[in-house]
Amino acid sequence: MTADNPSLRPWRDIERRKSRQIMVGDVPVGGDAPITVQTMTNTPTEDARATIDQIRRCEEAGVDIIRVSCPDEASTAALKQIVRAAKVPIVADIHFHYKRALEAADAGAACLRINPGNIGSEARVKEVVDAAKSNGCAIRIGVNAGSLERDLLEKYGEPCPEALVESALDHIKLLQDQDFHEYKVAVKASDVFLAVAAYMQLADAVDCPLHLGITEAGGLIGGTVKSAIGIGNLLWAGIGDTIRVSLSAEPEEEVRVGYEMLKTLGLRTRGVRIVSCPSCARQGFDVIRTVQALESRLQHINTPLSLSVLGCVVNGPGEARETDIGLTGGGKGKHMVYLSGVTDHTVESDAMLDHIVGLVEAKAAEIEAANAAAEPVAAE
Ligand code: SF4
Repeated sequence: MTADNPSLRPWRDIERRKSRQIMVGDVPVGGDAPITVQTMTNTPTEDARATIDQIRRCEEAGVDIIRVSCPDEASTAALKQIVRAAKVPIVADIHFHYKRALEAADAGAACLRINPGNIGSEARVKEVVDAAKSNGCAIRIGVNAGSLERDLLEKYGEPCPEALVESALDHIKLLQDQDFHEYKVAVKASDVFLAVAAYMQLADAVDCPLHLGITEAGGLIGGTVKSAIGIGNLLWAGIGDTIRVSLSAEPEEEVRVGYEMLKTLGLRTRGVRIVSCPSCARQGFDVIRTVQALESRLQHINTPLSLSVLGCVVNGPGEARETDIGLTGGGKGKHMVYLSGVTDHTVESDAMLDHIVGLVEAKAAEIEAANAAAEPVAAE
């Protein structure tokens, strides 16, 4: 589809900031690697079974990297089993106790989320960095406007972009002093203006990968809008190598929202991109219910393809021209189906849903087969 090919539409192109690449387990972050989607489990980590089940649901939604809180020894003890079961790299979230970081590195965490300035003495920082080095762990520095160091709050009077960036640079220096460079950084705030300004300043000051997030963004709808504005603005400016949408919602919802942002900006492709109208009195079928059913029934499709679902001919044919499969409502319960932008056949209301699901599944299989045929044959 030409609509999804940025080289044919230069005004859709985003020029990404050139960052240094690091590895989080076997997932590259930064450089020209795809922007990764993260989330965080909310089960008690010591309950390895429940945590693994939640990780599995996030993996099905497409998560690339997943963070797990390690507030106590029971959590880091469970981490080994969790790391073994997960198909994606695990980031151990450590807040205050450096010993949890040492245990998490030993347990196989691919990354430690820890701020070296909060660990205490230089000797402890060295111990954590040595553990990270010997276990092949990356480190994620996570500055948060809600927990800025007291001296910076006194210096700046309130959380502001300069304070967040100074805090990040202070933490970075502690890692660099230990000759450690496998780190990525976040400067999160729940205020989008503050977060965006801080990330913009940080992007100019450092070359490491940046982890984007609007922290404590809110519930599913409010938090999605807030995150889309904050993270979306940064991504559009080319800033950001990995994202986490923070919602008061299940982690797999965060993953879905993250993908929707990246898909909207043409930065990742995954699954079915549905174009649909809000519906009105002209609709030939119940658009809202149809789209809800299709979203649910097409969740298992990972192959990138596009589907337009429009209630009538006002905008239906135009949108169908730009999508792989199109459905446009017609009169008397008969609706037009478009394949690759061209009018193909009609379908009746009763059969419509199963028919469209079947067409999408067949198209996904066709794309997968074409991709497999195009892959170079490995030398024997
Ligand atoms: S495409 Fe037709 S049914 Fe849908 S909103 Fe537009 S006019 Fe209404």
